[in-house]
Parts: sequence; structure tokens; C-alpha cells
Amino acid sequence: MKKVAILGSTGTIGRNTLDVIRHHQKHFRVTALAAGSNIRLLEEQIREFRPEIVSLERKEDAEFIRNRFKKDSLRVTYGLDGVLEIGGNPGNDIVVSAITGINGLKPTLAAVRAGKSVALANKESMVVAGSLLRAEARKSGARIIPVDSEHSGVLQCLAGENRRNVKKVTLTASGGPFFRTSLSELRKKTVEEALAHPRWKMGKKVTVDSATLMNKGLELIEARWLFDFKPGELDVLIHPQSIVHALVEMRDGSVLAQLSPTDMKIPIQFALTYPEREDAVLPPLDLARIGALEFYPVEAKRYPLIRLATWALREGGSAAVALNAANEVAVEAFLARRIGFLAISDVVHRAVDGHEQRTVRTLDDILDVDRLMRERTSQIIQQRY
Ligand code: MG
Repeated sequence: MKKVAILGSTGTIGRNTLDVIRHHQKHFRVTALAAGSNIRLLEEQIREFRPEIVSLERKEDAEFIRNRFKKDSLRVTYGLDGVLEIGGNPGNDIVVSAITGINGLKPTLAAVRAGKSVALANKESMVVAGSLLRAEARKSGARIIPVDSEHSGVLQCLAGENRRNVKKVTLTASGGPFFRTSLSELRKKTVEEALAHPRWKMGKKVTVDSATLMNKGLELIEARWLFDFKPGELDVLIHPQSIVHALVEMRDGSVLAQLSPTDMKIPIQFALTYPEREDAVLPPLDLARIGALEFYPVEAKRYPLIRLATWALREGGSAAVALNAANEVAVEAFLARRIGFLAISDVVHRAVDGHEQRTVRTLDDILDVDRLMRERTSQIIQQRY
């Protein structure tokens, strides 16, 4: 029985993880849950899964939950200390890291330092601190297993293969809700339209990132660190059906692909059971019903952020930190309806343009660049929009 801690239990990945565990109760026990402010859902999760410790973002919410479970031996904490206590607990067998954005970095680092399996859904932490996380994992013996469907696909294609024989890795992108929208119409796209993803049910940040293709850009950088690929070995292909998640081209011309239904429960379960497998919790893939699988090149005009991400991938150093920070601030402003859809890319380009490359070795270096870039991006939004 593996003890599982979930950071971000009320988000999409957290809920899907609990759904997988609900089907495999013989194998997993939920010992800790960290949530944001969705106290109603957290309360339900506590009643069903009976964790030993939970954490919330705010003190008031923690007090509310503590009152609801007075008679139980539940430990309730809050804030960064709470989530770090949960992530860094050496009693965990698996930590599912599913807090969105840079906020997931410190808890992920704590989990990696504790030396256990980290099922990583928080791609931003790998993007901004890939080098640091890898070094820490080497020291502690932690295993970082991707939850992102494309990276789970790569991991599965690489199994048993000699890395020297791999020529190229391609991550697929659905193209998001605006793949077939005319370029002139893009300007008018609303928050609701950007959030209506045709294939995946995901959180707001990643859904907007899918519409701009920044999500794929971040995933390229994530892949670079997860699997130690060179920038030139990584590629993206648009695949609207989202059935093929990754393609690995071998030097003899064979291409391996990983296919599965478009549902995060598949890669989540693989991360939890890795390197073993358990029975599926979903109906099997029905290719005859799907009929056709299409592939298209990425149109740079439609997705200008992908080029910026490729630049950050090649540049290394602080470039990815700067790009990630600018993007988080721009997406937040779009979701708050302060800027339009096309302005996301405009703002990120302007912010990153003025960025001076520097070496980022420690967590403080990274957080420094992150903070400066956030200020800069907010200023650009204030001045221009
Ligand atoms: Mg993905």
C-alpha cells in the first residue's frame, strides 16, 4: 500500500488523482491533501479519503476545517508552511505535485528533497528550475515521474530503448479552441471562448496556455529537463484529436507513438503505478470510432508564443524563468478581463524583450528573476492597456 500526498487536491489533476485512487484502493492510501480555498470540496475529500493531515491556503479556511473535524485526529495546517510540511514529509511514498504556476515550485522542491516519488503535474517548476530539481533528485534519490500526458507518452515510448538510438521527440498539441479560427477573428476572442477547450478538461491557466500554445512551449522546456534532450531534438506537431500524445523517432527510421483516450486519468494512473501498471478506470480507446488522426505543422503566425518558448529553450539560464513569469502575469490579466486574447502574446514579448540573461543556480536566483519579471510585466500592462 503506497502512501500518497496530493498537493492541489481540489484542482483538476487532484480530483482526477482521487478518482484513480478510488478505483485502486487496495494499492493506495491518501495520507495528506493540500488545497487552495475550495473548503467545501476539501471537506468531502477528507470524509471520503480520511487523510492524516490537510493544508489550506488561508488561516480562516484552516480554522473552518478544523472545527468541522474536531472529534477526528486530523491535523490541519495552512499557508506555505503547511504545504511544505506535507510535500516534504519523509513518510510519503508518492507526492502528486499539482499546484499551478510558480506557487508549486517550493512544495515540489521539498518533495524532491525528501527523496520519494514525485508525480509531477506542475510543469512550471520544471520549466523554471529544471536544472536545480534534477540536481536535488540526484542527491536525494527522488524519482520525478511526469503526469503531463505528452511526457508520460515520451516516458512510455522510451522504456527499454537505448537513449543513443533516439533521434527526435515530438510532443503533440491539440491546437486549442482557436486552431481553425481566422487570424482576424482571434482579436475578439473572450475568456469564455478561450476556456472552451475542444478536447481536454483542465484548469484555467493551462487551458488559456493551450489556446496560445504557450502550454506546448512550456512542455518543450519541461521535456528538456525531464529527459535530458537537447533543444534540437524536440519538436511539436498539431494533432487536433489528442489521441497520440508523443512520438519518438529512432535513428533507424522507426517512430514509436503512445496513444490513449484524451483523459488525464491515464497519465495520472501511470505516474502512480510506475513502473508497474494497473487496470484502466476508463473504457478502452476505440480507434474505429475516432476514424481519422490528423497532424499539422505549427503555424507560427497563429501561435507567436511558441517561437519565444523555443528561444527560451535554446537560451537556457534565466530565459525560461522570465518567460514563465511574464506569461503567468499576462494570463492572469486576460482571465481578469484586463487585456484581450492577442495581448497575452504582445505583453509577454514586450516583457521578455528587455530581459537580461543571467545564471540562475539557486532557488533564490530563480525567485529573484521571477519577481522582477512579474513587476515588469505588470508595469507593461498598466502602461499599455
Ligand atoms: Mg500536456
